[in-house]
Amino acid sequence: MVGGEKQSLSPKEIIHHKFGVKASYRIEQVHVSSQSTCLYRCHLQLPDFSVVSNVFKRKKDAELSAAELALEKLGIHPQGDDDDDDDITVEQAWDDIVERIKYIFSDEFLSSDHHPLGSHLRGTLLRDGERRGSLPLSVIAAFDAKINSRCKVINPSVDKDPILAMSYVLKAAAKLSDYIVASPHVAALRRKNPYPPAVVEALATHGESIKVEAVYIQCATSGEEVVDPITLDISSGRYYLDIIAEKLGLKDSSQLIISRTFGKTPSGYECRVYSAIPKLNPSDKSSKAYGKRPVDDEEDQSSRFKNPWNAKASSACGQDIHGDAIVAALGYSWRSNDLEHDDVTLKSFYRICCGMSPNGIYKFSRQALIAATLPFSFTTKSSWRGPLPKEMLSIFCRQQQLAEPVFTISTSPVKPLSETLRSLKKLKDSESNDSNNQCVNEYAGSDDSFNHYNSKDEEELPVLESGYKCGVKILSKSLQDLVLDCSPRNFYEKESYAIQNAALKALTWFGSLFDHLDADPEQPRCYTKGHMNWMFTRNIMIKGKFPSSKRYEEAAYDESKTMDMDRKPKRVQTIPNGSLVSISYSVCVEVEADFWGRSGKCLRELIESNEEIEFEVGVGSMNPHLESVVTQMSVGQYACFVTNMPAEGLVLADANDTARTRSLLSKLAAGLEYSVHLLGVKGPTEKRVESVFFKPPLWKQRVGYAVKLIKESSASTLVEFGCGSGSLLESLLEVPTSLQTIVGVDISQKALDRAAKMLDSKLNKGACNLKTIRLYDGSILEFDSRLHGIDIATCLEVIEHMEEDEAFQFGKTVLTLFRPKLLIVSTPNYEYNKILHKSSLYHSKDRSMSQRSKFRSHDHKFEWTRAQFSHWASKLAKSHNYSVEFSGVGGSGDVDPGFASQIAVFKQKSFTEVKKVSMQPYKLIWEWTRAEGDNKN
Ligand code: SAH
Ligand code: MG
Repeated sequence: MVGGEKQSLSPKEIIHHKFGVKASYRIEQVHVSSQSTCLYRCHLQLPDFSVVSNVFKRKKDAELSAAELALEKLGIHPQGDDDDDDDITVEQAWDDIVERIKYIFSDEFLSSDHHPLGSHLRGTLLRDGERRGSLPLSVIAAFDAKINSRCKVINPSVDKDPILAMSYVLKAAAKLSDYIVASPHVAALRRKNPYPPAVVEALATHGESIKVEAVYIQCATSGEEVVDPITLDISSGRYYLDIIAEKLGLKDSSQLIISRTFGKTPSGYECRVYSAIPKLNPSDKSSKAYGKRPVDDEEDQSSRFKNPWNAKASSACGQDIHGDAIVAALGYSWRSNDLEHDDVTLKSFYRICCGMSPNGIYKFSRQALIAATLPFSFTTKSSWRGPLPKEMLSIFCRQQQLAEPVFTISTSPVKPLSETLRSLKKLKDSESNDSNNQCVNEYAGSDDSFNHYNSKDEEELPVLESGYKCGVKILSKSLQDLVLDCSPRNFYEKESYAIQNAALKALTWFGSLFDHLDADPEQPRCYTKGHMNWMFTRNIMIKGKFPSSKRYEEAAYDESKTMDMDRKPKRVQTIPNGSLVSISYSVCVEVEADFWGRSGKCLRELIESNEEIEFEVGVGSMNPHLESVVTQMSVGQYACFVTNMPAEGLVLADANDTARTRSLLSKLAAGLEYSVHLLGVKGPTEKRVESVFFKPPLWKQRVGYAVKLIKESSASTLVEFGCGSGSLLESLLEVPTSLQTIVGVDISQKALDRAAKMLDSKLNKGACNLKTIRLYDGSILEFDSRLHGIDIATCLEVIEHMEEDEAFQFGKTVLTLFRPKLLIVSTPNYEYNKILHKSSLYHSKDRSMSQRSKFRSHDHKFEWTRAQFSHWASKLAKSHNYSVEFSGVGGSGDVDPGFASQIAVFKQKSFTEVKKVSMQPYKLIWEWTRAEGDNKN
């Protein structure tokens, strides 16, 4: 708490007050493809930590949000929020509630039109006798915004505990004993003096009777709740809540608890859960009726009430529900005095339930409830399908009434590049196989490819010791309670990857509380404690269970139904992890004919199908059975297999004909039948392979190698042929060299855009001596005279992206026309692939994969052996008066099969004047020049 801070200070002022110039705000532009406007996100760096705001339209708002997040982390709660309720003391809140109750029971209020509570009051006045005009406490607590907000001032937990709010209303009403009848035995309030007869008579209704579909959740003492559709017959002249109460076996609506609104029917109407006020256990006489919860402990909670906890209803609405419950979408609004209503079908109920869990959010986003599952790892943005983990975590928090997640990013003190250089030096020093630099293939080629699902996510990725690390904290809405504090220990190369992975871990954690919709209890999917530091406060959240009675067992291959599948004695994963796979599939619920007792066709109901869906293999983005089968297939093949049932709710949420599907599910021999067609496979991206197998990643080693040569030279100009997104250019901003002008040339507009973006963001940081940086759009097969006679040219992992004859053409063009003093060319060593291909990440033994998949990237047109490369380079050097030396990175040059990436370094032997040709086919697309007097040294 801020002791001495003045109330009027804004969050930014408080930060400034505490940290002065040590607090630095950085604004990042965020491009949202769906919107034309630009959004902003703010990074606030403080001495001990940093925070990242959400995305805003205005920079100012992003800064404010970052400052607020930082205060939250520091445990400082600035006073004077924009919410007026914060200024109210608890005493005032009590006074307000008393006042408000008095007003609600005034003549004036009864005749006020369109207030939902007024409609309720009129509803209760339709009753006869004693109960006429007796307004349930739950109604007052749930439908009056003012009372609700004042109850929150008294205790923020009213959000998840409607009984608490009801108890406050009752307590406040006790102060109006001259005016209001409040008895703790009937949870309702009534006016002492009757309303003027004229007013009551005017209420005589002539409304129509209506029928509303709803869902009844019967709470069994042992086992799972049973969910059935019911119809509410709301006859005219009756109060609708009394009808709901009767369905629950209650005398009238004064015995009801009404949950908060949640979910939406297809036409957008919000639902509520109606249940009975739970009876206290006789053993628990000490606590008063509707009193304060003694302890927020799960065991205490369940034993406190006679009625069993209703897991399904609780999970749907996010509040603790005991006993039987009805889920319905109806009520009064401000718009009219009529009862508004919509049907809640079994399907819509189950869809709402599924959508509450992280796994469900992902399933819906991919429109594949049965097939898709929340991945456990975020590898690259380009392989990810569906909303990013960070977005999903926000959605989840909003649904669960939690505050927006707070991400904390830290960077390691070691600069990635200098580390690369150091380990490179180490390699040079000891010619032996340095363990740091070797191919990491301990994880390769394991036999349990069927179980790749348990993929050792954490272990498989190289453990970076530097880069970005991100933790995430989740607080309750009132920011008073820390719900989850998750700080993964892994480092990531990019800040955004660290954030996405932290968000994904939090989602997975929450997911485990919601009991996976397609859980396989035998297969713990993700993390062991060792991988991160967790702090989790359980009691804040209502965890939902969505249990299924039938266990989801291992996919049973139905050999007879398997069409065109090679009969393999053993299941072998032929599509490597990291590949992007495209399939079409359909899923049916089917009941075996034998069970049905007659020969012929079995009963079947289609519940899900997809003409084309793409997913990344090895991260758990598809259900284990489907993924396991697909990764054993070849392009063009079909497969068909049967599994046991996942959670019933999941199937019903998906099915078109709920009633029919439900009757099939009730049969013992019901199973899920999948038909799948493999449409295509794209291999793992090159960068992924290089990051998984090499430490530091191979591309970093290449860049390190080039940087070292550049530093040793006294070159002042450099061109990077095929610069891609500019990883070498990026390093040249970070390390001081003699270079003054650097140029990148590429043919890919996308790559150049990324390079430009990267340069824009990095330019102001480095302490380089550079004067000019240019990016050209052009083909390096063509000569551009602006780059004639440049000191150094690099061409890293580019030639294999051309046809072989073009690679010869490129060599000729560079050494004849560009004539750099030094040319560095790297390309994969084909012989090394046999090591890479041992791993399940990268198979090539497979007959079913195309010829191309022998290469490291599906983009490669060829990959050369050492002999082929040497032949190309030596001939080229000789005919152009250059010398050439061979080297490489990854593995060792002395041991077979040589370096993973082979490098040729060409040096001009003597300067020879060549006739200058003037041609400028390249298009300048980005340029930076250091302003006069802007020398940073
Ligand atoms: N040198 C970068 C990128 C390697 S990927 C690195 O080491 O990270 C290969 C790049 O070569 C791609 O960006 C591709 O667009 C580019 N490329 C392929 N053919 C090209 C051509 N004819 N002219 C210019 N660039 C080409
Ligand atoms: Mg390549």
